[in-house]
Amino acid sequence: MATPLAPEADWVRVRVSGKINLALRVGAVRPNGYHPLSTVFQSVSLFDEVGVRWDEPGRFSVTVTGDQADQVPADDRNLAVKAARLLARSYGPSRLGAELSIRKTIPVAGGMAGGSANAAGALLACSVLWDLDITPDELRAYGAQLGADVPFQLMGGTALGTGRGDELVPVLSRGSYHWVLALSEDELSTPAVFRRFDELNPDAPVDLPMPTDVMNALVSGDAAALGRVLANDLEPAAAAMRPGLLQVLAAGRELGALGAIVSGAGPTCAFLAANEAAAVDLSVQLSSQGLCRAIRRVTGPVPGARLITT
Ligand code: ATP
Repeated sequence: MATPLAPEADWVRVRVSGKINLALRVGAVRPNGYHPLSTVFQSVSLFDEVGVRWDEPGRFSVTVTGDQADQVPADDRNLAVKAARLLARSYGPSRLGAELSIRKTIPVAGGMAGGSANAAGALLACSVLWDLDITPDELRAYGAQLGADVPFQLMGGTALGTGRGDELVPVLSRGSYHWVLALSEDELSTPAVFRRFDELNPDAPVDLPMPTDVMNALVSGDAAALGRVLANDLEPAAAAMRPGLLQVLAAGRELGALGAIVSGAGPTCAFLAANEAAAVDLSVQLSSQGLCRAIRRVTGPVPGARLITT
């Protein structure tokens, strides 16, 4: 006999978003293995959902559904499970356990920090489920232990990231930006892209400039100005590993995008449009060229990890 579904009320659910780096400046790798970054993150409206409910103490499991679910580990390697286990270790290993469910929309290994978003979602959801006495700053500190992008995925909006990208300051941003995302057929490994960056940039600086041009464009709310100054130091490395990316970027530019950029370590490409109508046109035309797996229209900035209340 089929097990009856647990009542919906048992679940705490959190919505998390994907991110684009509007500027991504990368420095020379440090002895600890990390690259210094100077980056401006923007959260965009591509959402995963992370749900958690109580399980026996010490028991953690995850079910993944949605886009590319088969490419996400459904065991202890899953970043959301790592997040839940990390909190449980600190707050009550003999008392806490959780069953997790993740619904994916953010491309897997696509340069939009989907795994980090799921970890952020699990941190927030577990802290609510287990009724933990924990501040947002403390939650962000746990996030930083899981990955450099997790603190931003908790916070969302628009932020300047320095250090490993985990030292965050909110950035003033006026208006809403319309993006067209070209999702790629295959994945790109972030560590592999950074290794290629090292090969291509033996003289990368240690001290990085602030991306002031991007921050100025955001303050003025001028999409055309923002489009002109989008910059990603990882783009040549990603393109060296996936030469087809250059063709996708060129196609978007020819179709009138205000700016075109590889998102993070790629291979997702992001095109900035002047407004919603321009984004619709661009997405239809890019789609008809058949250069990518799928096209998504999104807006940013949007909030980071947020409880879904019903
Ligand atoms: P990055 O934050 O490094 O830019 P990304 O957005 O390119 O990451 P992710 O979607 O976070 O890539 O996935 C990177 C790898 O992490 C995947 O290949 C996958 O095997 C693993 N992974 C672990 N947990 C998750 C998760 N919850 N969702 C997606 N991928 C996960």
